[in-house]
Amino acid sequence: MRCAFDLDHYRELLDAAEAGGYRWARFDAEPKPGDLFLRHDVDLSLEAARTMARLERELGAHATYFMLTESVFYNLDSALGRDTIAELRDLGHAVGLHAVHPRAARDDRFDAVVAWHNPDPDYVHEPVSGMVNVMQAPWFTKGRYRSDSNQHWREGCPHDELRTGAFEWLQLLVHPEIWVYPGATMGETMRAMAATKHDELLGYLAGDRIDLA
Ligand SMILES: [Zn+2]
Ligand SMILES: [Zn+2]
Repeated sequence: MRCAFDLDHYRELLDAAEAGGYRWARFDAEPKPGDLFLRHDVDLSLEAARTMARLERELGAHATYFMLTESVFYNLDSALGRDTIAELRDLGHAVGLHAVHPRAARDDRFDAVVAWHNPDPDYVHEPVSGMVNVMQAPWFTKGRYRSDSNQHWREGCPHDELRTGAFEWLQLLVHPEIWVYPGATMGETMRAMAATKHDELLGYLAGDRIDLA
């Protein structure tokens, strides 16, 4: 199997988890055998998050989407941002806060769960008042965590282990942008995303009655 960072292989990953007998877990209870915590940090693109969320719905998968409130790449208070949170909820997914340390101001858009964006080692595993920090024990446990950061699985793509049920339980961090936009490397994928955002930006300008002639 070719472990590409594309939606075909993402579908294979979710199928493997289903075949391995895993259940879609939320961060509202401590891990139990068979739990799969499917976590998405939405760092760059609301559109990619929506595409991934629809595919998961089609496959019967449930994830938790962590959203930034202070991103330079998207605005949750825009119509697109509000619609995205509403659609994620409609599709049956959970929504958590993707916070930039030390600020973790939760409001009623978010469940009581936080994931730090680009955390430093000195606070990443520390508890956060009033919320579950996804990287605190027991939700973060060595050997029960895989991440696709920068199109690189540090400990390998988990599709085989998911299929055979090799993990007692797992937290799987997937960044939607990496899978939704095409590219054999992170650089190619990010340039493809930037090209799409360029077109979207022209659309927003036209929608704002800017003369583009
Ligand atoms: Zn794979
Ligand atoms: Zn992040």
